[in-house]
Amino acid sequence: MALDDLAANETSGLVCAHHHLYSALAPGMPAPPRTPASFRDILELVWWRLDRALDLEMLEWSAKLGALEAIESGTTAIVDHHESPNAIEGSLDVIANACAEVGVRVNCSYGVTDRHGKESAQRGLEENRRYLASGGTGMVGVHAAFTCESDTLLAASELAQNYGVGVHIHVAEGTDDLQANDRLKDLSREDWLLVHGVHLEDDHGLNGCIVHNPRSNMNNSVGYAAPHRLGLPIALGTDGIGAAMLEEFRIAYARLREHDVAATPELPWSWLETGYRIIPEAVNDRVTWSHGPIDPWRLAFQTNIKPQLVEIDGEVVYTEGQLTRADAMEIRTKAAEQAQRLFAKLENMV
Ligand SMILES: [Zn+2]
Repeated sequence: MALDDLAANETSGLVCAHHHLYSALAPGMPAPPRTPASFRDILELVWWRLDRALDLEMLEWSAKLGALEAIESGTTAIVDHHESPNAIEGSLDVIANACAEVGVRVNCSYGVTDRHGKESAQRGLEENRRYLASGGTGMVGVHAAFTCESDTLLAASELAQNYGVGVHIHVAEGTDDLQANDRLKDLSREDWLLVHGVHLEDDHGLNGCIVHNPRSNMNNSVGYAAPHRLGLPIALGTDGIGAAMLEEFRIAYARLREHDVAATPELPWSWLETGYRIIPEAVNDRVTWSHGPIDPWRLAFQTNIKPQLVEIDGEVVYTEGQLTRADAMEIRTKAAEQAQRLFAKLENMV
């Protein structure tokens, strides 16, 4: 097992199987124009305003901040899902370069959607194509079936197949997306990432890997996915709320246990390990933790364990509380400046 056959206080690098690095600047953002009363409201009043406000400079520092926070949490690989409808072209390179500079592995995708019109969906598809054609590590991103026409879903599926990668898509996160099951049934393949799956039927008939994001699901009040009922491999993601995967494991365990008092932490621990199916190289990364042993039953309840040393691809990228490749202080300062620009834009947005 990748996570627990090493030295007593070591693991492989952890994998965040669903992230939105563009949201790293969001903490502290101005309140939405009115209090959201539903998941759809949260999307429309918070996230779909934030993504429209992003430019490439904000994105660069948001991605660097997110990459820094990942490494500080022992997470060496991020599967990112990105949207910035007013800064599409080149956005995946900005994210990939930002992560490379900090030293974290990333798998990028642009979330295609028809909610800004056909032309914007085409540009999103083209950004995925351009990035993959240039040799970038990634997948084809789709926001979700409920914001896409059927021809867009088909085009994304074909594009992914052409490049030998899967589609990374939100599926049945809320009740707005109940049709996802039927609409994706004939398209989905084993290499797809089906994110959330909260409202999928047990006998959904989809192919792929479910990515469970327990804290995000609770925050959005969409319900409990109980992902182990879905009959597919399950990985863990944060849905953009940092990349602290031991913490997400603890939340996954607590939420599972609330659902089933007989459940053990070994099940959500196995969900962490599924991340290596998506970014296999991370299994060779090393994290030395402040103390051991690395044991799901202990870690489900020990909340203060921290990485001391992080090695990615044989290189030490974090030691004694410091990044080795990039200047964490500079990243935090520049990210704070970009956050102020972003917040000012949001204040003025109608
Ligand atoms: Zn997401």
